[in-house]
Amino acid sequence: MNSELRRLIHLQQLDLKIVELQQRAEQIPQEIETFNRILEENRQTLEQARQHIEEDNKQRRLLEGEVETLRERLSKYKSQLMEVRTNKEYQAMLHEIENTEREIEAKEDHILERMMAIDEREKQAREAKGELVKKEEEILEKRGKLESFVSQAESQIVCLQKDRRRLEEEISGELTEQYQRIASVRNGVALAEAKDQSCQACHVKLRPQLFADIRTNRQIITCENCNRILYYAGP
Ligand SMILES: [Zn+2]
Repeated sequence: MNSELRRLIHLQQLDLKIVELQQRAEQIPQEIETFNRILEENRQTLEQARQHIEEDNKQRRLLEGEVETLRERLSKYKSQLMEVRTNKEYQAMLHEIENTEREIEAKEDHILERMMAIDEREKQAREAKGELVKKEEEILEKRGKLESFVSQAESQIVCLQKDRRRLEEEISGELTEQYQRIASVRNGVALAEAKDQSCQACHVKLRPQLFADIRTNRQIITCENCNRILYYAGP
């Protein structure tokens, strides 16, 4: 094979590898951002569950205070019951006592409901906490891997670029320019394999004589359709 053609193929490999690493590394901050958002959502779920528990406890304490007040009133009524003189007063006092007892009962039912709600919310909070811990571990590990990938990719790119510069020095300036010109309009791909009588990049059929010439890999031949430099890598 023509040594310049071989160098160009190598140059193309280096360029593609550099672009691949760059593109992958560029995606990573976005991925890390997504992980951070997932964690933030989990933290908020937990925080909301805790706030609900606090709210429920506040209401429960309020109801307990009300029950206490009602009980004091009840015992006052009961002692007053001994002091009433008429039957009418007695009946009225009994009625008050019954009412107060019913009120206490209703409030105690509410307290029970609150306590059950608190139990349920505490269960949810425990689950949310468990989920958060799991996610934190998982994401910490993934984030670590991504971050180390980025730093590895960066040093790898530096090495590849060094190789690239060295290689470029071994190729004639004219050919390097041609390579760059094609690459800049062909999405970074200046070379294409010729196989089965056609250009593997644009898939145009190559003339038999042209394909025969390419097969020798002796000269720099470009595709008449996409302009890429063609090489033959075997059947
Ligand atoms: Zn082509």
